[in-house]
Amino acid sequence: MNTKIQPYQFNFIRKQANILLQAHLSVNDKNTIKTLQAIVLEKINEQFGTDKDALQPLLDGFLEAATSKPRLEHYLEGLKEAVIPFDPPSKQQLTKLFKKTKKLKIPEWETMDLRDYTFYSWNDSGKQQKFIIASIDGQLVGVSGTISPTTQKGICPICHETSEVAMFLSKVKESGDGMYTKRGNYICYDSEKCNHNIERRDELEAFVQNVKFMK
Ligand SMILES: [Zn+2]
Repeated sequence: MNTKIQPYQFNFIRKQANILLQAHLSVNDKNTIKTLQAIVLEKINEQFGTDKDALQPLLDGFLEAATSKPRLEHYLEGLKEAVIPFDPPSKQQLTKLFKKTKKLKIPEWETMDLRDYTFYSWNDSGKQQKFIIASIDGQLVGVSGTISPTTQKGICPICHETSEVAMFLSKVKESGDGMYTKRGNYICYDSEKCNHNIERRDELEAFVQNVKFMK
């Protein structure tokens, strides 16, 4: 069976490969490179945990690829073939997720490379609204809220990178009594970048749980 990886796992391997590439381009000492190679491989194995044995075929040629930019690009092209694409919801599922939204903008899934998305989020800038959909424990969850048009530098809680973040204000159901409270978080304004940066699912899940279910 061919090993498959998630989009965020692809991002993780790409980032580690780029760290190695930078070292190759700037460090001459072979021992330093060897040590770094060992560290990078360990980090990848750690990230994949119990899946790491299945991952090994995909890492064939990884160290060699990370020695030059063209080689690395070629390797990453091949690795991308193993990425499981984001499973887009039907129009019906989507309108159900955002029942209260009138004139919901439906993403044009067919024009996208869905292997780039660990979750999917889009802005309706006219209404200053942001929509986020993610699969949590096999269940598709939708979160919506207002997004401020002004951005600032900050760390996004979803991708954990320093980026241009904006205040995302969402209504959170407090308990069974129908009460809502508003919760604000600074997250990436541009979710394309967020998806490009994300390397783990945990933070995404924690964020969605936090703004959706008050956990
Ligand atoms: Zn982000």
